[in-house]
Amino acid sequence: GEPTVMIRIKELPKEVIIKIAAGEVVAGPNSVVKELLENSLDAGADEITIEIVDGGKAIIRVEDNGCGMTAEEMKLSIMPHTTSKISTIEDLYSLQSFGFRGEALASISRVSKMKMISKTQEEEIGTQLEIFGGEIVDEKKVNAKTGTIIEVEDLFYNIPARRKFLKSESVEGRYVTEIIEKFALSNSVNLVYLRDKREIYHFTKDLDLVTKCLKIYPELKSKDLIEIFYEDTSIIISGIISNPKVARSNRTAQTFFVNKRYIKAASLFSILEKGYGEMLEKGKHPYSVIFIDLPPDTIDVNIHPQKLEVKFKEEQKIVMLLKNVIRESLLKKTKFTIEFVST
Ligand code: ADP
Ligand code: MG
Repeated sequence: GEPTVMIRIKELPKEVIIKIAAGEVVAGPNSVVKELLENSLDAGADEITIEIVDGGKAIIRVEDNGCGMTAEEMKLSIMPHTTSKISTIEDLYSLQSFGFRGEALASISRVSKMKMISKTQEEEIGTQLEIFGGEIVDEKKVNAKTGTIIEVEDLFYNIPARRKFLKSESVEGRYVTEIIEKFALSNSVNLVYLRDKREIYHFTKDLDLVTKCLKIYPELKSKDLIEIFYEDTSIIISGIISNPKVARSNRTAQTFFVNKRYIKAASLFSILEKGYGEMLEKGKHPYSVIFIDLPPDTIDVNIHPQKLEVKFKEEQKIVMLLKNVIRESLLKKTKFTIEFVST
């Protein structure tokens, strides 16, 4: 008879595809917090409360006073590739929002037990949805303030292999705290953060960058901070760097924002330290909170699923500028710095 041909290539089951895709966006509790905060800010919120329990592994809850969603919009928001923020690919190059992929709520809702409550200004009464593993299991009308509450319970409950990869609650909780610090540094909002019912941070809208830095890094004094600023027609570089004397032994306090978006790029870290050059002791890493602002059509943000990287059109120029701005600010700043160099 006919020899049977083994076909080794098969289409993956839908649920497997969905879980793989969700894994790209949702690395752990900190990436859930990042996505929810971005959504709150995109919704125009200026009051945000974040609560986590057990490092975010048990509960992550973000409440905002943004524009809210109608019941219909809420249901759409958890579908893959649904967004109110862009409609054409060109929109990516004039982007004003943090979001654009329309993937976060779809992904998060598929790998957790999620509750959403939302109400728009125009509505009298809000809507509550309960979603288990991406399926809506309950919908009801509830009293609510204008804005949105999203509660994410038992992240990765339906992907046990993945859940096992989560670190201890203290480590995951620290990652969450770190991402909240980044948002607090780059946004002027009233932001309250509770970890296991304990208030960790309360930033008010009016705080300046130095004050926020001192809150986040209590080991620093204001005399340790050096402001940097550079501006030409195509770029603004601004922020704060530390005196080389008060460096850390790791890079956890080096923060960059490109058009207010938190960016974690090795190239920026290394340029920062090149700017310090010989002023920095070996193995020491300075503090930085640096904002790079460019016309949106000179960067590409669509190169990383968690949007943590960007591509610069003129990478070389930016890198050189940044290094020079840092170097000059350090040299200009203090006798103190120069004394340090010579000792
Ligand atoms: P994206 O942010 O890329 O659009 P998301 O999955 O994060 O994708 O959100 C989908 C949509 O749900 C958003 O475009 C927005 O319209 C709506 N949305 C999400 N979170 C909020 C919120 N906190 N307040 C108001 N609308 C929201
Ligand atoms: Mg989003």
